[in-house]
Amino acid sequence: MTTTEAVRRAGTSSDTEAGAGNRASLKQRIAFVSGGMGGIGTAVCRRLARSGVKVVAGCLPGYERKDDWIGRMRGEGLQVHAAEGNVDDYESCADMFYQISSVIGPVDILVNNAGITRDGVFKAHVAADWYGGDQHQSQQRLNVTRQVIEGMMERGWGRIVNISSVNALKGQFGQTNYSAAKAGMHGFSKALAQEVVKKGVTVNTVSPGYVLTGHVKAMKPEILNSIVEQIPMGRLARPEEVAGSLAYLVSEEASYITGAKHLDQRRLAHGLTPTRTVQ
Ligand code: NAP
Repeated sequence: MTTTEAVRRAGTSSDTEAGAGNRASLKQRIAFVSGGMGGIGTAVCRRLARSGVKVVAGCLPGYERKDDWIGRMRGEGLQVHAAEGNVDDYESCADMFYQISSVIGPVDILVNNAGITRDGVFKAHVAADWYGGDQHQSQQRLNVTRQVIEGMMERGWGRIVNISSVNALKGQFGQTNYSAAKAGMHGFSKALAQEVVKKGVTVNTVSPGYVLTGHVKAMKPEILNSIVEQIPMGRLARPEEVAGSLAYLVSEEASYITGAKHLDQRRLAHGLTPTRTVQ
């Protein structure tokens, strides 16, 4: 490629501003957040909806708290919808995305957030404990991401953010299954990012440390305290702080960030090299 060609492809800043005017703004985008009614999912839905994104929160079929959740969010003036589907099941996801596309429109922003933990030391693990592990979560990524990727590429714009964990990078006692599953997300994101990079679609991961959600609040106080002691900031992350990182990665401004790991500062607690938060 010649220098002239490289400059033409990048555009000038005034081209970029003009182009941004022609492109749909984030306000016209549609986002799907799997596990959207959980702790982090709710904060992500709220943050995106406040930016004017039309948000669809995924939940399991028959989820009993769905109506309450929708009522609460709409009571805050947010434009949110719910879609029922099991991310473990390809057909269930296909049906769900067909419904979303027919009733609301095609999904531009995908947040792969649904997840479970099934902790236990490896020497005691049996095959069922790997539910929640690597194979299971990689199947979930296929079930969901496959429903939206072609549409994003055809329309020339898309954002995919996978919620990993700091334990993917450093490991965690009692979480061989979870750490392996979350580490797999980085490989998945980096590989997929390369396949779609020329089609206006970015794929990134966000790797939170411990976040103040229901699961974490339910931990034994002595375990929670020992975790907090290792965190340089001396406190857990708030779900809103994870949502803030994610909101940046799906924005127009982040259009040149793909295949990246967005880390939180807990990594510093484990003697690893401090890096830029966005790599
Ligand atoms: P959460 O409150 O339990 O939210 C997870 C959501 O996923 C729940 O609403 C759950 O539904 C849903 N879900 C689970 N399996 C599903 C399935 N097969 N199909 C559809 N939905 C399903 O957990 P969270 O703490 O917000 O965590 C969200 C994500 O962040 C997870 O991927 C987690 O691993 C990651 N993360 C969390 C932390 C943390 O400290 N909290 C730290 C790092 C990474 P039900 O409620 O019906 O089960």
